[in-house]
Amino acid sequence: MPNNTKCAICNNQIPIFRYKAMRQWNIQGYLCSDCYSKKLIGHYTPAYIPTKEDSSYNKNPK
Ligand SMILES: [Zn+2]
Repeated sequence: MPNNTKCAICNNQIPIFRYKAMRQWNIQGYLCSDCYSKKLIGHYTPAYIPTKEDSSYNKNPK
């Protein structure tokens, strides 16, 4: 049971589905689904990331 694979980005244990990192990402190992999809989004639209939530968090930390 290969059940102790860790994500190469967030270092969390990957539960079931692990994703192989693309070669152009320069990442060794596997990614969890979260980091993989984030990487994919970043890969296809590197300069456009919606930050609506982020800016409101930064203004109001509490
Ligand atoms: Zn991850």
